[in-house]
Amino acid sequence: MLLSYHALHDPRCCSPGEPLDIFTDSQVAIQLVSKAIYRPHGLTGADICLHLPLLLPIAHMMLERAARGVPTRIFKVKSHCGIHGNEEADALAKEAARTSPEGLDATTPYENPFDGKWWPATAVAPTAPGPLDNSDVRTVSNLKSGLKEAVRPTTKKGFSNQNSVYAQAWAETTMDPEGPHPTISNAMWNSSKVPYATLVQTLKSRYGCLWNAKLAHRFKRPYLPHRVHGHAISAACPLCSGSDSIGHILGECAHPILKALHIRRHDEAVRMIFKAVQKGFLGGNFSIMDAGTSDTVQVAGATTKRIPPWVLPHVPTDELHRMRPDIMILDSVPQQPTDVDIACAHHRTVHLVEVGYGPDTRWKETLEKKKQQHQRLKEALAQAGWTNVVEHIIVLGRSGCVYRNAQTILEQLGLTSAQALKLMHKLHFHAVASLRDIVKARRSLERLPHSSTTARRAPRQGMG
Ligand SMILES: [Zn+2]
Repeated sequence: MLLSYHALHDPRCCSPGEPLDIFTDSQVAIQLVSKAIYRPHGLTGADICLHLPLLLPIAHMMLERAARGVPTRIFKVKSHCGIHGNEEADALAKEAARTSPEGLDATTPYENPFDGKWWPATAVAPTAPGPLDNSDVRTVSNLKSGLKEAVRPTTKKGFSNQNSVYAQAWAETTMDPEGPHPTISNAMWNSSKVPYATLVQTLKSRYGCLWNAKLAHRFKRPYLPHRVHGHAISAACPLCSGSDSIGHILGECAHPILKALHIRRHDEAVRMIFKAVQKGFLGGNFSIMDAGTSDTVQVAGATTKRIPPWVLPHVPTDELHRMRPDIMILDSVPQQPTDVDIACAHHRTVHLVEVGYGPDTRWKETLEKKKQQHQRLKEALAQAGWTNVVEHIIVLGRSGCVYRNAQTILEQLGLTSAQALKLMHKLHFHAVASLRDIVKARRSLERLPHSSTTARRAPRQGMG
């Protein structure tokens, strides 16, 4: 473009009365010049504005020549294919870019619209300590992707406090070779299906910033400022008066609606896992699933919701009803077992699957807790002669973490590697969506006038 400008401007290239042919390999330059002539009002945007000081004079000179009846033609030529003039122009342009700006006179009769304005720049490895000068910085190429690129290194970890309890817990968890699956646990960031507000809530939950009465109490802020003036005097949950925290909101609150949402999150995850397992080699066996009502469980393909008495004949019925594994599959036992099947069933393998949500960075605690949960069931099965009992515990993080061991477990349950990864993705998005629902429910419930308050009124000024 600069060369076009010089071609039109420089009397050595053309005389004002003679036709001029300009050859260029830049389609963009041709389009821009054409736009400057026919639709100058359309020349907007940061990228185009950069070229305006050159574009407008070119358009002006071409129009002026046309008015005098002198033609100017611009031809597109192939680039880098040995056309003599084009190669020469390329070499000149490279030389100009390499040497100092004084090497090529780029001044135009038009004012630079960016003169004296600020443009974001990034530091490129400063050569000496001290303040940066112009050679240490590079202006970003544009205000969208260029700026994003430049901002990323400082915001990614940058100036954040990496000594905080949460940052250290996450660093430790992600370093653990059995820890969260890195891409699946963060799949929400690249998904267009997760709303921005949900991403923010999830990030806040992961780093302990989701607003709750405990934080309000710690920082001496009002918790529900629209209702109560003065700072929170206790760290109690406004719904159930339990000790409030992010973990409380996401998994421990005793308010019936929140509790129902926690159970729904668990049951939906169990059903997703069960549905996937039905497609593998364990599908179609006698199976027990404790997620939903007896009818919905059977619709989902499970035989029953509770362990039938013939599995553990020596255990009293009321105790048997308290033994509730999420999924129990009796390998090679048909859904309608005959007396013969029942008689030799205890030689078969029993798969116990337990699904549990817990704090993302303390998943091993959840794993230990879940291991204890069915101790009595495992003992009873051993007593009843079931020799092959395999226990699978799938731990899921309340803010979307899916752990690497889930893949191994799902493969043991008959899924292919691809099916297992697909299911893990689904479980991640399900956890994030459930977090959104739970936080939404808590926010609307705590705004209702009848929920108990955890703050005191501000002392009235000027009163004895
Ligand atoms: Zn609560």
